[in-house]
Amino acid sequence: MIERRSKILRHRVLFVEDDLGSASAAGRAAQLLKTELELNDVDVVGAPSLADAKGLFLSDAGLHGILLDWTLGGGEDAPHAEAMALLDFIRSRNEKIPVFLLTDREKGSGLSEEVLSQVSELVWLMEDSAPFVGGRIQAAVKSYAKKLLGPMASALIEFDLVHEYSWHTPGHTGGTAFQKSPSGRLFYDYFGEAMFRSDLSVSVGELGSLLDHTGPIAEGERYAAKVFGAHRTYSVTNGTSTSNRIIWMACVGRGQKVWVDRNCHKSSEQGITLTGAEPCYLRTTRNRYGIIGPIPPENLREEILVEGGKPQHIVITNSTYDGLTYNVDRVLELVGGASDRIHFDEAWYAYARFHPLYRGRFAMRGEAKAHPADAPTIFATHSTHKLLAALSQASFIHIREGRRNIDHARFNESFMMHASTSPFYPIIASNDVSASMMDGKGGEVLVEESLREAVAFRQTVTRLWRRHDESGDWFFQTWNPKSVEDPGTGKRVAFEEASPDLLVREPSCWVLHPGDAWHGFELEDGYCMLDPIKVSVLTPGVEEDGTISEKGFPAALLTAYLDARGIVVEKTGDYAVLFLFSLGITNAKWSTLVHSLLAFKSDYDKNAPLEECIPSVAGNYPGMGLRDLAQKMQAVMKETGLLQAQGHAFAALPEQEMTPSESYQKLIAGEVEKIPVDKAAGRVAATGLVPYPPGIPMVMPGERLGTDGEPFLSYLRAIQNWDRLFPGFCHDTHGVESEDGVYNILVLK
Ligand SMILES: *Cc1c(COP(=O)(O)O)cnc(C)c1O
Repeated sequence: MIERRSKILRHRVLFVEDDLGSASAAGRAAQLLKTELELNDVDVVGAPSLADAKGLFLSDAGLHGILLDWTLGGGEDAPHAEAMALLDFIRSRNEKIPVFLLTDREKGSGLSEEVLSQVSELVWLMEDSAPFVGGRIQAAVKSYAKKLLGPMASALIEFDLVHEYSWHTPGHTGGTAFQKSPSGRLFYDYFGEAMFRSDLSVSVGELGSLLDHTGPIAEGERYAAKVFGAHRTYSVTNGTSTSNRIIWMACVGRGQKVWVDRNCHKSSEQGITLTGAEPCYLRTTRNRYGIIGPIPPENLREEILVEGGKPQHIVITNSTYDGLTYNVDRVLELVGGASDRIHFDEAWYAYARFHPLYRGRFAMRGEAKAHPADAPTIFATHSTHKLLAALSQASFIHIREGRRNIDHARFNESFMMHASTSPFYPIIASNDVSASMMDGKGGEVLVEESLREAVAFRQTVTRLWRRHDESGDWFFQTWNPKSVEDPGTGKRVAFEEASPDLLVREPSCWVLHPGDAWHGFELEDGYCMLDPIKVSVLTPGVEEDGTISEKGFPAALLTAYLDARGIVVEKTGDYAVLFLFSLGITNAKWSTLVHSLLAFKSDYDKNAPLEECIPSVAGNYPGMGLRDLAQKMQAVMKETGLLQAQGHAFAALPEQEMTPSESYQKLIAGEVEKIPVDKAAGRVAATGLVPYPPGIPMVMPGERLGTDGEPFLSYLRAIQNWDRLFPGFCHDTHGVESEDGVYNILVLK
């Protein structure tokens, strides 16, 4: 017999009562209630004061109920300031948790409407019996906890607790197959019973079907649609990669014209190939740090988009990989007449709806019912696993039905084509939970916390930068305005002096205003806003006019240094490193990062040996220190004009010889060959070439690489040269196979 490891779900309540444990009558009654609850498997956490209660409420997300003494902090009579303060505090963060107010009949009858509307029930501690009150509390706590998970996740857990004998797949049947072998047993023991018991198949009718959208799974999708503001939502278990391809296959037919963000994810490129579409690309711009901007409004003008025929589909990445978000109303004003279907790839941006800072800057803005039937149909895709809390591969498709809406039955054909007939149920459940976590006040509280941490980090780094800068020294900067204006007072203050409240509440602090030097883009006012939680840390080395300075170093050096200290970054640009302040951020986590930035500065100043600070690459650079390597890298950046070459490569669009789909036909027929970049002049690429940084396709399949002197091959040769000079700091270019320092690419024969 194997002992049960997974915990039966237990409930826990916070008992806020200063008399608990005292010998007074009230203290004894409170103690009786506590014992009663504990006898019924409800854990009770005591809080004798307002401060304790606040602290426990903030730090323990496992509480399912609050018992609050109306006379907390003494004072039998009004104003009950402490209890009132706690009540307000709790309700500002959670409008649903059951709160039981402990009072007596006399005081209870005098309670104001304001108080009554915030509490779930009144408890006459001295008059009612402990089993009666305990039962009421238990029922409320249970019902609250059940709804917490969302429909599918709670059905899944309930099913797990019932324990059936299963004769269906998966063949491990709740984990028992693993227990018959030593390797299986080890695997089982590591992950624990709950995972295996909840790994079920579509044969379990109680949970409904993901492919038919029935039962609790469908309820979960309807719930997510409500939370995210869609008419319809689909839960997808193979990532937004699949979500995007589902939309593509549902919307676009062979040979149809589409406009696609050149800065699109690989999955949209695959959508083009799968559908056989004729793509046109929406060009983005890039700034002096090599950061890719949004598609400027002039590239979205209707007369451009409809030239040569109305596009079937338009794909826009929102936000960009560096956290630049669009004013969606303005985008729709521009493109809404050109196409009936607009697809916003918001893989990194599922949280936007839940905080007012982002208002109007995401696809599902406002309410679904306000979406006019003659407006375009809008799609949004969210990787819930990326910046909300869900398991890897969890993703949502949200739809606002408008012109040329695709009804469910037709859309589902594409959904089923891309979905597995054996989805992993915990992934679906985690989508449910991600929606539930964002529902109501909880969502705003979570996003606000990320914003506050990001702002605190940015202000801390900016303060350090300012101090060094004033003494003619360098330090890292965060990419954001140097000063902001408070629209309330009209006063301009230094960024690091601005009140955090202003920065987390006021979008104009983050908008790319025309003429502001910090962002380096030319865009109309209000069109684009930097998302504060996507933090780019800039390394020194680029002047305001874009020239490479004598001093400084590329971001890759900082990334390698941080990596050696166990800090893994999201993305490394040329002179910018991106950090995500996702829901899991803590003060301790970003403080460690600040500490490491300071350590880098100190190691740079004393030219610490590479063996000490980046041991993994030190062997390639014998005898060199951190500053030596920085200087060598910067000199090469300056001499070879690498950043400039990149600018040229991304300013031009290659000539399209054939569609990605036609090119793919040649690939599968083997009509391709691998050749070195130096011999690729005039050839046609067989696969997309995507250099990181900046991480957008430079050449798509079926596009011409141009002559040796033209920007595409020049840039590839420049980074090939860099990689030879700086082992350990090589570029990662999708579509390029690097062998002994030679870049090889696949071209059509
Ligand atoms: C990550 C990403 C995707 C793919 O999402 P997965 O959930 O990893 O499959 C799609 N689009 C964009 C813009 C992304 O960044």
